Amino acid sequence: MMMTMFARTIHRSSSRINVHHSSLSLSHSLRCNSHSPSNILHCQMSTETASIIDRLKSSGLLRTKGLIGGKWTDAYDGRTIEVNNPASGDVIASVACMGERETKDAISSAYDAFSHWSKLTANDRSSRLRNWYNLLLQHKEELGQLITLEQGKPLKEAIGEVGYGASFIEFFAEEAKRIYGDIIPPTLSDRRLFVLKQPVGVVAAITPWNFPLAMITRKVGPALACGCTVVIKPSELTPLTALAAAELALQSGIPPGVLNVVMGDAPKIGNTLVESPQVRKITFTGSTAVGKKLMAGAAETVKKVSLELGGNAPCIVFDDADLEVAIKGSLATKFRNSGQTCVCANRILVQEGIYEKFTKAFSNAVQNLKVGNGLTEGVAQGPLINEAAVQKVESFVQDAVSKGAKVLLGGKRHSLGMSFYEPTVIGDVKNEMLIARQEVFGPVAPVLRFKTEEEAIQIANDTNAGLAAYIFTNSIKRSWRVSEALEYGIVGVNEGLVSTEVAPFGGYKQSGLGREGSKYGMDDYLEIKYICMGNMG
Ligand code: NAP
Repeated sequence: MMMTMFARTIHRSSSRINVHHSSLSLSHSLRCNSHSPSNILHCQMSTETASIIDRLKSSGLLRTKGLIGGKWTDAYDGRTIEVNNPASGDVIASVACMGERETKDAISSAYDAFSHWSKLTANDRSSRLRNWYNLLLQHKEELGQLITLEQGKPLKEAIGEVGYGASFIEFFAEEAKRIYGDIIPPTLSDRRLFVLKQPVGVVAAITPWNFPLAMITRKVGPALACGCTVVIKPSELTPLTALAAAELALQSGIPPGVLNVVMGDAPKIGNTLVESPQVRKITFTGSTAVGKKLMAGAAETVKKVSLELGGNAPCIVFDDADLEVAIKGSLATKFRNSGQTCVCANRILVQEGIYEKFTKAFSNAVQNLKVGNGLTEGVAQGPLINEAAVQKVESFVQDAVSKGAKVLLGGKRHSLGMSFYEPTVIGDVKNEMLIARQEVFGPVAPVLRFKTEEEAIQIANDTNAGLAAYIFTNSIKRSWRVSEALEYGIVGVNEGLVSTEVAPFGGYKQSGLGREGSKYGMDDYLEIKYICMGNMG
């Protein structure tokens, strides 16, 4: 089992290196197995995992094949890819490892389904989405268990993700009925001018492993509501949640071909999606490096592109903050999902007058976070997704310490082994250190000291990223001033948890393009058509 985990880790890290070094062709090494059927591998797993898998199997939610045109489909060459539990190394299942041919067929299915789906009334689409929402909630527990098994986050957090993920389907089921056009006062008396909004067509949705459900529903909800059809490419690390959600979509009356899922060889699938003239839009959540490649590739066919990329969130604690509120908010934004979210605080900037008090109280709070298998009651921190993620965290911590930062808590791998890392606080961090320049994507809180509000804003904005930022202050004037000065798409004021389906989510600068969630989340899936009617006098 350890060997499998290790092999997977090596593969993942090499794939990342390839991404950085490739040009327009999106290269990536492959860990598919030849000709073994996609299935569930009972013999290799712990009793706890096996009993959850049995329950998931009997509820019909454990799917291991891709979904093309409403049919569960093996990879055409029979190859498979293993899905591991990062907490134990157990191989949970072996899923179809697809590539170009399957992706082409999924695109054709979505293209064919578009003509029917886009012509349904908004009410009809809305009620099917509402059915899907209801089914997701009905299966909240099982979906939560599946997320914990393949992604590692604590079960309570995983069930929270199901609620959050489902909320996008509910919200956009309602928005489906509000896609209004316009009538424009004409400039000539015999003219009548109208604006219609129409679905863009086939959408390709490529999603990451850190929110295996919510990153899908945030895209598929508005796409389907607008009348688009989709091909989803979930991460090879967490395909099971995506497949379970697709099963529930079928059960909810969303017709075959409207929602397709292919997974496996990411660059081949990505290239096929990007190159296809039938795909009219790419929506991607993931790393900035892969996002840039997709954006460049999409230029060839001039597709619409939405990108939700990496962040480097500053969390600014001013002298005048309520200490308790600041600790609670910083803890929530830093350690959620073991620090593996794009909106996690990546730099905690603390004003000098409150620095000592804050770091002491914050470290005490961090020390209380229980680390372990996400299925265990009371666990607040699960494992990191894989060995490569731990190695990245280690190298960032090492770099910071070698340049003068001080480990105040943690700072090493957890005694639980696998990919567990101790919740860590590092003081005296400088903005030049690697840990403050790039996303650490792990349970490490780097604390920086600042003197003035101007300095805090300057440090906060000194990055290519611009997704989320947080400020803690009791001054209303300051909260406005600083919120306006921060070059970020999302600002939390005295609050560390800001994501909700009703508000726009997205970044400035290299954190992305477009917004997801809220009424603004519909715009990227719609074309605007202007109709000019003449001779109307
Ligand atoms: P990633 O490596 O970029 O992967 C994201 C998706 O892209 C996965 O499905 C991956 O497939 C696929 N992919 C990888 N290489 C590809 C290629 N050459 N062509 C086409 N697709 C390719 O990112 P990640 O490590 O999974 O996710 C973490 C990143 O996502 C962080 O930077 C985080 O900040 C960002 N994120 C952003 C948001 C946001 O809303 N802004 C939300 C969540 C996460 P495989 O996994 O199968 O290789």
